[in-house]
Amino acid sequence: MLAWPGFQKVHTTAHSAMCRNNLKVLENAKANWANDQHKTSDETPTWSDLIRTNVGYLKAPLACPDDGIISIGRVGEAAKCSMPGHNL
Ligand SMILES: [Zn+2]
Repeated sequence: MLAWPGFQKVHTTAHSAMCRNNLKVLENAKANWANDQHKTSDETPTWSDLIRTNVGYLKAPLACPDDGIISIGRVGEAAKCSMPGHNL
């Protein structure tokens, strides 16, 4: 990549957008899991629940590009990243 003024900001924005996109994928996987497995909005899937079922809602655990910690959360709440600016 070429360096130009503002590159760092663009880079940071790209990371947060990537992370938000991961969170959207995760939200979708949680919703499908809850629907298929007849779970309530109070239940929290684990990464294994989302990955190891026959359906495979996710292929692998989702990671934050900036090493933030991603919390799956309950079905009824939003998935979160610990990095500021990465949330939906
Ligand atoms: Zn993140």
